Amino acid sequence: MEICSSDAAVQGTSNDAAVSRESAARLGYIDDPFIQYFVRRPQRRAPLINRGTHSRFDGVQRILRQFAARAAGCGQVVVLGAGLDTSYFLLRREGPVPLRYFEVDFAEVTAKKAATLWRTAALRTLLPEDAAVAGGGTEVHSNTYNLVAGDLRRFEAEVVPTLAARGLDTAAPTLFVSECVLVYLGAEDSDALIDWITWAVPNAGIVTYEQIRPDDRFGQMMVANLRARGLELHGLHAYPTLDAAARRFLERGWHAARALDLAEYHERLRPEERARLSEIEILDEWEEFTLLAQHYAFAFAHTAAAGPFDAMGFDQQ
Ligand code: SAM
Repeated sequence: MEICSSDAAVQGTSNDAAVSRESAARLGYIDDPFIQYFVRRPQRRAPLINRGTHSRFDGVQRILRQFAARAAGCGQVVVLGAGLDTSYFLLRREGPVPLRYFEVDFAEVTAKKAATLWRTAALRTLLPEDAAVAGGGTEVHSNTYNLVAGDLRRFEAEVVPTLAARGLDTAAPTLFVSECVLVYLGAEDSDALIDWITWAVPNAGIVTYEQIRPDDRFGQMMVANLRARGLELHGLHAYPTLDAAARRFLERGWHAARALDLAEYHERLRPEERARLSEIEILDEWEEFTLLAQHYAFAFAHTAAAGPFDAMGFDQQ
């Protein structure tokens, strides 16, 4: 398919996410020694952005780590729109990753990621021994870690066959991760993706982190700012609230779903962690931070009552 200019803008958001993560990592908000390798021109983000990045990172890592502990040896992770996410390497530095791990993004993004993984010793040495670059430089294949190219708007027709060819086992407990990704798809496409998970993966979980609340003043500004950069959050109006972010799973018969916004997540951080963050940088703009953080939501949902997902969530360690 011809890549239209808005696809190029969406692909570029992987760099924005990496720059924010690198800023938070360099200042000590988060522990990610790998993100530096993906950022050519580091930028120091404002304190409120660094705070937000910390909570975003903390929430997704919390779910991933719970899954790695509870589904060790049998679980799979599928990171949708993985961009330059380093989570695989964060797990890997602690030892062999006890999960089969799949990352999917547009070929334009996976090609850049594959090239960086291959030429950076600190990353390459953490790849499985059998890892090889494939797909004309757009993919990395191995038995346990796979970076694959595909368009999530054609999930069942295009992405699923690629994942299956790389060993995705729909019978295994599988955690899907979407960090600022599903919201870029039209609701029809993200619904189709979730529908596929619903019928094809009996023991599935998903953690999402996406924008919400497009209709208040801040939300309208957020949408307008992104639009000015050629970015359209196609799925935002279909799932505009916390309730909608959880309900989309419950309506499909998933066993449980819970959503909370980033402001609430930050509020619930351990007091010691909040004190540690305050020592890194003073955050004066609390009102602004809260407003921003109310426009991002985590959701965690799972299909089955039994299995690794039932004892997982944002309240668990
Ligand atoms: N999840 C990563 C993170 O948090 O660092 C990247 C987030 S970035 C905001 C959004 C990512 O979704 C980009 O890498 C983009 O290329 C990917 N993406 C958006 N729409 C996609 C689609 N239709 N197919 C594949 N990837 C897509």
